[in-house]
Amino acid sequence: MVKLAEWRGKEIFRKYGIALPEGHVARSAEEATSLVSQGKVPLPCVIKAQVLAGGRGKGGAVRFASNAEEVRAAAAAILGLEFKGEKVKEILLEGKVAIDRELYVSLTLDRTLRLPILLTSAKGGVEIESVPDEQILRQPIHPFAGLAQYEKRRAAAFLGLTGGPAKSLGPLLDSLWAAFNGEDAELVEINPLAVVGDRVIALDAKVVIEDDATFRHPEYAEVRDDRTPLEEVAREKEIAFVQLDGNIGVIANGAGLTMATLDVLMQFGGRPGVFLDLGGTDDPAKVAEAFLLMAKAKPTAVFLNIFGGVTRCDTVAKGLVNAMEKLPAQDRFPLVARIRGNNENEGVEILRAAGITSIPDLKASAEATVRAAAARAAAAQGRTA
Ligand code: GDP
Ligand code: MN
Repeated sequence: MVKLAEWRGKEIFRKYGIALPEGHVARSAEEATSLVSQGKVPLPCVIKAQVLAGGRGKGGAVRFASNAEEVRAAAAAILGLEFKGEKVKEILLEGKVAIDRELYVSLTLDRTLRLPILLTSAKGGVEIESVPDEQILRQPIHPFAGLAQYEKRRAAAFLGLTGGPAKSLGPLLDSLWAAFNGEDAELVEINPLAVVGDRVIALDAKVVIEDDATFRHPEYAEVRDDRTPLEEVAREKEIAFVQLDGNIGVIANGAGLTMATLDVLMQFGGRPGVFLDLGGTDDPAKVAEAFLLMAKAKPTAVFLNIFGGVTRCDTVAKGLVNAMEKLPAQDRFPLVARIRGNNENEGVEILRAAGITSIPDLKASAEATVRAAAARAAAAQGRTA
């Protein structure tokens, strides 16, 4: 998921012809003030933190200023914020507009319907999650036909728009649809969509690019800074690898089994710190590579939970044992295994030869992992105490 900052989202919107105020990005209070004194940003203006979290309005990360001194103060205050864990490094400055009404529109994918869906609500300016269901109009959209005239008219009527604003909504929605498809987005959201005089304009932009389409968008490469260095290496090797904040490592195959494994560990009081999904790999070298990456994350203990299908148990066991032998003693960790399914007996035998017992029961193996992690953590404490 590539979530874009507001100003990048607005750049996309502009490219597709969506009406919005002209904006400028600044990275210091001085830069912000000079944008105003040079007349690039009209006064009064709005100054907005460029962070990925929402709720900036309520959280003091959106401020207004009517002279250069206020701009400097507001810019400095916002740039000094750590908003929901993210340091503010950029601010967006725009001329302040007089809003008549705040509305909400978005296009996203409805995974249940397997269709794009157009959401509209007259309750704009607040997070959509807090808007009651009956105040949101949800219109599934034909993926090839795009927005029909009646769907746009229904949206305008639901929003209570008439006259100029109603007329301007149709072309805006067409542009939004074009942006949604053209940029391979999984979400394009305008909140608020503001009624200003005789038209509607976008005052905020949230654009999320579909992960599987990022290879078509090298322009967002620099935005992808949400990965840890190890996750970055994993991505280059096409290994599904995610770091969390616990200490137990999980190696499983398939997203469903991987998630269930995390759940069962947590049920026994364990805290997963990294997981690795072997997916449908049937190459011992690839398994070994994945395992060595796991070792770099320094897990306290690792739970290997494999259901052999395409990924056969003996392939995983072979890759694992090879990789373990390459690990220097100080980098080793307790490993609890549960391998079932295709070529189970061969796999169990390979592990046994390397001194690892496979525990067939899920709960028992998860519990054994949590115990092994706790024992090792206690031993480490003992050494340093
Ligand atoms: P969010 O809270 O993070 O979603 O940030 P928004 O970009 O949606 O801004 C929050 C609120 O600031 C909006 O709902 C508006 O009420 C207000 N706001 C933003 N830009 C303007 C503007 O140009 N004029 C006025 N009057 N209000 C604005
Ligand atoms: Mn908003």
